[in-house]
Order: sequence, then structure tokens, then C-alpha cells
Amino acid sequence: MSNIVAIVGRPNVGKSTLFNRLLERREAIVDSTAGVTRDRHYGKSDWAGVDFTVIDTGGYDVGTEDVFEQEIRKQVQLAVDEATSIIFMVNVEEGLTDTDQEIYELLRKANKPLYLVVNKVDSSKEELPATEFYQLGVEKYYTLSSATGSGTGELLDDVVNDFPTTEYKDPFEGLPKITIAGRPNVGKSTMTNALLDVERNIVTDIAGTTRDSIQTLYNKFGHEFVLVDTAGMRRKSKVNEDLEFYSVMRSIRSIEYSDVVILMVDATLGWESQDMNIFGLAQKNRKGIVIVVNKWDLVEKETNTMRDFEAAIKHKIGQFTDIPILFVSALTKQRILKAVEMAMEVYEARSKKIKTSKLNEVMLPVFEALPPPAIKGKFVKIKYCVQLPTPSPQFVFFCNLPQYVKEPYKRFAENQLRKHFGFTGVPIEVYFRQK
Ligand code: GDP
Ligand code: GDP
Repeated sequence: MSNIVAIVGRPNVGKSTLFNRLLERREAIVDSTAGVTRDRHYGKSDWAGVDFTVIDTGGYDVGTEDVFEQEIRKQVQLAVDEATSIIFMVNVEEGLTDTDQEIYELLRKANKPLYLVVNKVDSSKEELPATEFYQLGVEKYYTLSSATGSGTGELLDDVVNDFPTTEYKDPFEGLPKITIAGRPNVGKSTMTNALLDVERNIVTDIAGTTRDSIQTLYNKFGHEFVLVDTAGMRRKSKVNEDLEFYSVMRSIRSIEYSDVVILMVDATLGWESQDMNIFGLAQKNRKGIVIVVNKWDLVEKETNTMRDFEAAIKHKIGQFTDIPILFVSALTKQRILKAVEMAMEVYEARSKKIKTSKLNEVMLPVFEALPPPAIKGKFVKIKYCVQLPTPSPQFVFFCNLPQYVKEPYKRFAENQLRKHFGFTGVPIEVYFRQK
């Protein structure tokens, strides 16, 4: 499954410099998808052919001095909850500090692969002072310069090499995996409990508990699905709980484990940047999405309230608007089963494979009727298309001059696919390639 590497450490040790360095290579190669907002704390990288996710836990606004310690604790806790491996970064310029010691004490208890990285060792003359950190007693010790990149290779070789190799055998292999994501207090737990309650007799098992996620199997009217949540999502704590950094971080793993994300939005607050970040996370990971506006019981309704709310959300989410939006109350259980059914529909759509013959039969006439605009007198001819055997829908259109097919036409192709084949709630990728 997906491996998550968290970079932890005091402010200014160089976490985000390393983070950006790890992401840079990858983003330059693959992640050039237009229109995807890049968030600063989360990204995909790879080393020696192994993919992993990196989180930069430094993404908070520390605020005043007295919240500082607590913030560091939370940051560390989060890393412990969500990560596979932890890079603990310290700074040779400042030497070993009390806070470093405290962080180390917390990390040590996590029992996860831990790498002590002494940063800002830009040249050999910092190697000696760096040895001060030996006294922490960390087994895996590295010196590097995030600024120049020297030393990162040795570190990554070991990090990747230590990833758990024993493939976890998923007891629910092949069943739809759904997660309820959203900011704190939006009603995720209430919804989960309501579903348990509604379906008391048909929750077959509360098994599949892995080191880092809890999966609950539901079985309803012949629909079987698995609700996924993680330690991080379940943990409640008081401090700055609504910092968007945390709700996003906490969603990462459960979203990666899932096929469909039920993104829960608070009707009394409307669509805010936290919602957008979680949405972006689901979209970037090509998961199915159902938006569920909760606490609808608290909203005073007039004729167009629902329609206006829906329009406001669609306006904010930009291009990918073919997403079901439902209005529910987890508290009164109004329409919560509907939300699950919708998630199942999205799951089906996401797994759908269109036969090549059918695809060509439908799409080629569409392209012929409205081909890409000619550039410099040259005409693009789309000759053939296939759907790739990927977990989420991806289509390749073969043509003579793929470099002339611009973003608006790709969008047109996507919309035509949606129109003819129905992919509501499902991110689609389209590629134009040389035949
Ligand atoms: P963060 O707060 O831990 O994320 O730290 P940053 O990545 O923002 O780095 C803090 C400062 O240290 C910045 O001015 C960086 O340019 C600098 N820095 C980061 N890595 C290195 C390094 O390897 N060598 C040197 N000399 N400076 C570095
Ligand atoms: P979580 O942090 O997302 O798991 O949110 P909770 O499920 O703990 O809910 C936070 C608060 O919102 C609790 O006080 C719930 O009773 C309340 N709440 C949740 N869903 C609804 C709803 O549909 N209507 C109303 N009125 N309150 C709700």
C-alpha cells in the first residue's frame, strides 16, 4: 500500500527545503496536471522506482510562544499516527536543543522506522559538529544538506529499503472502500455511528484493523462496502483543532486507502478552504467523490436554498463539477443511506471499463464533427481511443499531432466521455498520444 514519510523537526531546521527537493523531481516529470492546486504539505515522490508520499509536518502557523510546545507535540503525534517512516530533522548550525530532545522522546515511542537527519551539513567542516547528535542514541544517523541535496541519496536508499515488505493481506480485497472526510466537527463520527445504528444487524464484522486504519464492513441490501478511517481521524484533541493543516493531514491516509470519499461539508459554515483542500486531495488521488452537506436540519430553508447552496459549491470547485451533492442530517439520519448509495454508484462508475469498440463507435464521430482547431494550417486527426486498465478511468486518444491538442479540447473530450458514459463523481484523465 502507500508508504508515507513524514518530516518532523523544529521550525527552520530545513524541513520544507528537503520536502520541496523530494517533490521537485517528481513534479517536473509527472505532476504537471493543469488546474491542480499544489498544496505545500503533501506530495508524491519516488526513489529507486518506489513510490511514496511525503508530508511536511511543519505547515502550521506557530502563533504565540506558549502554543509553540503544544504545536510541536501535535505535529509529532500526527507523524506518529499517519506515517510509515519518520525523518527527524535537526540543524547542525544550532546544535542539539532541549526541544530536539523532547521531540526525540516522543518519536522514539512510536516504534516506526526513524531517521535522524542532521541538516545544513553543507561541507565537510560541519561533519564534526554534527556528531554532537550521536548522544541522542538514534541508530540511523545521516548528515545532509537539503540546500544542495548532498546526502539525500544515502538517506532515501535506506528509507525506501526499510519500507514494510510483507504485503498486508487485505481481508476486504475487492470490496468498495469508502471514507468520510471533512473538517473537525462537521459530523463524521455522528454519521459513522448513525450508519452503524441504522444497520445494526448487518454490520458483519469490525475487523480488518491494520496498524494504521480501521475498516468496518457493512452489508446492506446486497451492497457490501467497507468504511475506512484512521487513527488520526478518530483522535480528538482540543488545541487549534480547526487549523486546516490538521484536517488535511488526517485525511491523507484514509483517502489513499479508499475508492470513494464522502466529503462532508458543514451546512452552517458553507464551503471553505479546508473543504477545498480535502477535495483537492481526493481529486489528486483520483478517488471518487460525493459531497455531502451535513447539518441540513439547522438550515432555514426557502424555495431555492438547496439549489443556491449547490451552485455556490460548484462555483468554488472549478472545473470538475460533475459531482453529486447531497443534503443530509447525520443527527436525524435524514438521507444518510442515500449518501452511501450514491457513494456506491460513484464506486461503480469509477470501476467501469468501456469496451474499446463501443468507445470508438461513440467518440470518433464526436471528434469528427468537432475536431481540434487547426494550428498553422495543420489538422489534428483522432484515429483511435482506448481506456487504460487503471483503477480510475484514464483514456488515451491516438492522433497524428498530439502536441496541437490544447487544454480546452482535452476538457471537451472529457466532458463528452462524461456525457456518453456517465462518470459522475469520478476524476477522469485523458491523454493524447502519437499513433
Ligand atoms: P523548516 O521551517 O524546517 O521547514 O525550514 P526551511 O526549509 O524553511 O528552512 C529554513 C532556512 O534554512 C531557510 O532559510 C533555508 O534556506 C535554510 N536551509 C535549509 N536547508 C539548508 C541547508 O542544507 N543548508 C543551509 N545552509 N541552509 C539551509
Ligand atoms: P466530527 O468531528 O466530524 O466527527 O464531528 P461529530 O460527529 O463529533 O459532530 C460534531 C458536532 O456536530 C456534535 O455536537 C454533533 O452532535 C453535531 N452534529 C453532527 N451532525 C449533525 C447534524 O446533522 N445536525 C446537527 N444539528 N448537529 C450535528
